[in-house]
Amino acid sequence: MIDETHDPARLSFVASANGHPDFPIQNLPFGVFSPAGAAPRGGVAIGDQVLDLSEAAASPLLSGDAQLAAAACGGQLNDLLALPPQARRDLRRQLSTLLVKGSEHAQTVSAWLHPAALCELHPPARIGDYTDFYAGIHHALNVGRQFRPDQPLLPNYKHMPIAYHGRASSIRVSGAPVFRPSGQRKAPDRDTPDFGPSERLDFELELGVWIGGENALGSPVPIAEAGRRVAGLCLLNDWSARDLQTWEYQPLGPFLAKNFLTTISPWIITAEALEPFRIAAQARAPSDPQPLPYLWDAQDQAHGGFSIILGVLLRTQGMRERAEPPVKISHGSARHLYWTAAQMVAHHTAGGCDLRPGDLFGTGTVSTPDDEGLGSLLEMTRGGRAPLHLPGGETRGFLEDGDEVSLTGRAEAEGFVGIGFGPCVGTVRISTLGVS
Ligand code: MN
Repeated sequence: MIDETHDPARLSFVASANGHPDFPIQNLPFGVFSPAGAAPRGGVAIGDQVLDLSEAAASPLLSGDAQLAAAACGGQLNDLLALPPQARRDLRRQLSTLLVKGSEHAQTVSAWLHPAALCELHPPARIGDYTDFYAGIHHALNVGRQFRPDQPLLPNYKHMPIAYHGRASSIRVSGAPVFRPSGQRKAPDRDTPDFGPSERLDFELELGVWIGGENALGSPVPIAEAGRRVAGLCLLNDWSARDLQTWEYQPLGPFLAKNFLTTISPWIITAEALEPFRIAAQARAPSDPQPLPYLWDAQDQAHGGFSIILGVLLRTQGMRERAEPPVKISHGSARHLYWTAAQMVAHHTAGGCDLRPGDLFGTGTVSTPDDEGLGSLLEMTRGGRAPLHLPGGETRGFLEDGDEVSLTGRAEAEGFVGIGFGPCVGTVRISTLGVS
């Protein structure tokens, strides 16, 4: 549903929002922030400012469902995410009206704004559960080829969205330090493992999917209703220790290779803000199997994809010391997801699992069919055998201490103002001390 909040001609009285690459008035993402020295509270990014939702909730300028939605935003947004999408939409529409250029309430609303540079950002919700999917088919093919040249995709891949249950406690917002994990490593030419810091530390370029609403245990979400459970998106870096992963992943999947940290961008880019950027789901090849009915919905196939440009920037310690800018090492697109977010919701709940407001999915690493937009070093360097050559003369097989990885995301569509995701940055700082 496109409405006045998406109007490309709409400007804000917050001057920095107009032309802002991430947070023009057409975006209005929700997050949790602390103004200097104060307690966390709900906020909305607008240009280089953050609007305090606790101030908005206490004001008579909001009414109806929008007022209820703002009042539901405490120090975590789970209660906002529990509300039906209509409440989020009402809050978005009333905030957009209050922030518009020429707003008669500009003076009042200005008092609700804090400079983003002075605010600390927190995870937007208490994440009860985190599930990481594997829906980027070119990533699955690239990784599969390294391990099984004759059968890169396992037989189940095109029949259901594959995932593992991840670790919620170690999810942090952009800027959190990346401690190089230690664990068991076993080189192919060794008979026994040793213990020490990962020597094959990698990133994974993913989208995060924020879950809204709740289904009771034992009540699957039908595919036609599953889209309503997608409250919004963020960027997600599923940091991965490939040497630990190779040794531990069979038979039950990733463990220490993934549970040391997941970095997300701090803002929930709402499903409402993303409506102009919906596209058809990735087309299936004629030879691909037709998914079972519980995963198939014509509306979802027509609009279940996202037109989001994705990127990865790398800046090494040496580049920082030489005052060189980050180098873009990947230029990708979210259109290469084989499964839609609604299909993930439908499959996740098909056996009766309850999804709760504030649960988080990772889509899986998103890679392009060519080498321009690969979503991990594992793919870019062919498992470390073909190192990246960086502009300053350095090379990288996997990440070294001091390396800074930034994920970028931007939704774009003809005739609309593009919106961005904000930062998703992590720097490999130190090795954790291991015991051997
Ligand atoms: Mn992943």
